[in-house]
Amino acid sequence: MGLWAAVKAERLGISTLLVDAGPLGQGASGGLLGALMPHTPDKWNDKKQFQFDALLSLEDEIIELEAETGLVCGYRRSGRLIPLPKPHLRKIALGHSADAEACWRRGDRRFHWHVLDRPPQNGWPDAAFAAAGLVHDTFAARVSPRSLVSALVTFLRSASNVRIVEGLEAEAIDPAASRIIFHGGGVVTFGHCIVSAGHRSFPLLQGISPPLKHPIGQPVKGQAALLKADIDPALPVIFLNGLYVVAHEGGHVAVGSTSEDVFDDPSSTDAQLEDVISRARALVPALAQAPVVERWAGLRPKAIDRDPMVGAHPEHTRVIALTGGFKVSFGIAHRLADAALNAVNGREPRLPASFTLANHLVVASR
Ligand SMILES: Cc1cc2nc3c(=O)[nH]c(=O)nc-3n(C[C@H](O)[C@H](O)[C@H](O)COP(=O)(O)OP(=O)(O)OC[C@H]3O[C@@H](n4cnc5c(N)ncnc54)[C@H](O)[C@@H]3O)c2cc1C
Repeated sequence: MGLWAAVKAERLGISTLLVDAGPLGQGASGGLLGALMPHTPDKWNDKKQFQFDALLSLEDEIIELEAETGLVCGYRRSGRLIPLPKPHLRKIALGHSADAEACWRRGDRRFHWHVLDRPPQNGWPDAAFAAAGLVHDTFAARVSPRSLVSALVTFLRSASNVRIVEGLEAEAIDPAASRIIFHGGGVVTFGHCIVSAGHRSFPLLQGISPPLKHPIGQPVKGQAALLKADIDPALPVIFLNGLYVVAHEGGHVAVGSTSEDVFDDPSSTDAQLEDVISRARALVPALAQAPVVERWAGLRPKAIDRDPMVGAHPEHTRVIALTGGFKVSFGIAHRLADAALNAVNGREPRLPASFTLANHLVVASR
C-alpha cells in the first residue's frame, strides 16, 4: 500500500520520504498467494464498483510499471473456478451469472460468471468436488506478490522525488507539531503523513484519536505454501471454502490460507498449514506429490469494519490512513493510494464511505 502511494507521489512530483521499519516489502505483502478475487456480482454497490474499477485498472498499472522497470510482475487475468458441491449452490450461481452480465462490463470489455457442468481441464479441480458443477469467473486474476513488490521497489529506488529510509520504526505521531517520532528518538516533520504500516498502522492512528471503545483494527495471521509442479500457469485460480490454489509462472502453485485471530508467533507455520496443503492436494490430484518449496506466514491488517481504512484523520487532516486491505489489498492498493494522494492534494478522495478512516473511528467508538 505504502509503496504504491510512494510511486503515485513520485509521478505527481510530491517530495516524499518513504520510511520502513524493516527492509521494504517484507510485511504481509511479501507473501506467496497473489489471488485477485472480485466480490460476487450480485447486490451491486459502491464497494463492488470500486473494487471492479480497481481490478480492471490494475492491468494498465502493471503494464506501465513493467515498462518503467523492465521487470515482470507475474500478472495474468487467469480467471477463477469455484466448485459447487451442492445443487442449491448452482441455482445461486446461475443468478450471479445474470448479475455479472449486467455489472461486470466496461466499454467493450465483458466478464462472466459462467456455470459449467464439469472442470474445463481434467483434474483442475478433481470433478468429485464439483457434484453440481462449477463457476468459471473470467474476471479474477493473479499476480506474483514478490515480483510486484520488487517492481515497485525498483521504480522507487530510481525515483527523483522519493527518498527511502529502511530500518527506521515510527513509534508515534505528534499531529500538533506535524512530527513523527521514531524508535531511538529521531524525529521528522511532515507536510502530510500517509500512515501505511500494515496492521501496525492501527496503534499509530489510534494514538492520535480520542479514546475509543474498541481497537480500530487487528492483525489476522495467515499461512500459505508454495509447491513445485508441472502446471500450466494459465490455469484459473481455484477457490473452495476459503482454500485458494493459484497457478503461477515457472511451475509454482501457491496454496493458502489460514485465517487466525489468535496466534503466538506471527511468522511460524504449523499443522494448520499442513491441513491447507492436504486439502489442496485432494482438490487437485496433480499436486498430490508436489514438493513444498516454501512455507510462509504473515499478518493481514483487518480494520474494525473489515473494509480498507483510508483517508484523512477527521481531527488531524494532514495525517492520512492507507491500510486495512485485509484479504484483498493487492487488487485495490493502487486505487486506494490514489485516494490517499487526493487527500494530500486537498481533492475528493473518491472512496466508498465505509472505507474512510472517519467511518472506522465512528464504528470503534460505539
Ligand atoms: C497468508 C496470506 C495470504 C494472502 N493472500 C492474499 C491474496 O491472495 N490476495 C490479496 O489481495 N491479499 C492477500 N493477503 C493480504 C495482503 O497480503 C495484505 O492485505 C497486504 O499485503 C497488506 O499490505 P500493507 O501494505 O497494508 O501491509 P504490509 O505489506 O504489511 O506493509 C507494511 C509495511 O509497514 C512497515 N512498518 C510496520 N510498522 C512500521 C512502523 N512502526 N514504522 C515504519 N514502518 C513500519 C513494515 O515493515 C512493512 O514494510 C494475504 C495475506 C496473508 C498473510
